[in-house]
Amino acid sequence: MKKVRSPKALQAEMRRVHSKGKTIGFVPTMGALHPGHISLVEAARQENDIVVASIFVNPTQFGPKEDLKKYPRTLNSDLQMLRQAKTDYVFTPTAEDIYPEGFSTYIEVESPKDQPALSHILCGKYRPGHFRGVATVVTKLFSIVQPDRAYFGAKDYQQAAIIRRLIEDLNLGIDLKVMPTVREADGIAMSSRNRYLNPEERQRALALSRTLFWMRERILKQRGNLAGIRKEGIQRLKPSVDAIDYLEIVDPFNLQSLTRFQPEMVLLTACYVGKTRLIDNVIMRASKKGRG
Ligand code: AMP
Repeated sequence: MKKVRSPKALQAEMRRVHSKGKTIGFVPTMGALHPGHISLVEAARQENDIVVASIFVNPTQFGPKEDLKKYPRTLNSDLQMLRQAKTDYVFTPTAEDIYPEGFSTYIEVESPKDQPALSHILCGKYRPGHFRGVATVVTKLFSIVQPDRAYFGAKDYQQAAIIRRLIEDLNLGIDLKVMPTVREADGIAMSSRNRYLNPEERQRALALSRTLFWMRERILKQRGNLAGIRKEGIQRLKPSVDAIDYLEIVDPFNLQSLTRFQPEMVLLTACYVGKTRLIDNVIMRASKKGRG
């Protein structure tokens, strides 16, 4: 595995890879890797000649009061995990490499007419500027790595939807692969931020996945009553979490809240447990008849 820090050097290396007719699969991460990240590397390994992962804690996607400074950094164990998963290149730029003096171009994913912008709803509402930072860094990473395929987790459902839009709108010609959320045995979604949780908080954090799974069951049974089920979901979350940013039932494509049952829906939540903000979601597909 080759570790590359400089954007220019990696870009040149990727051009050489392409000139040999090889395909490139890319997995962007912020490090503090866990099996969820590695599932993306494994998918990339299966479908491409060359696998590139990046580790970059992107300052522009953190708000002024967010956890940029204390975000977990575990480079040595990250490198070991990536090596084990047979990654070919790991890109580890510094903030100055990505945002040099004078940097002033940002990417903002807005929305078609008459709809709130994808970047400004759900997490975008509670983390102003977050998706602008994500879209900007991902566009930069794409132009450095020039991947054929890029691998993202369904765990960050809204992020994947925004990147899908961005790839299409900017004609990037990258095949976006969104891989299923990897969970711990008890159902909690794996996340780098789970490291912040003390044992008592870790137990309470189970409420997110449990509530989403419970809602999915109820919706599949009732095939309606979304407002009532959402309300009850909030009641179920409340005793365990310290604050609820949102709990929503949305359309999988435009992420708008739904009032009526439809065959494909996504249930999404963001909650604080202690000082840690956690997100989770469940994608549901109901069969035409009976339970999905
Ligand atoms: P992060 O390092 O949190 O920015 O995540 C990097 C990539 O890994 C993103 O595409 C995430 O959606 C994905 N990811 C994070 N957690 C999981 C998980 N539990 N299962 C699958 N993918 C994940």
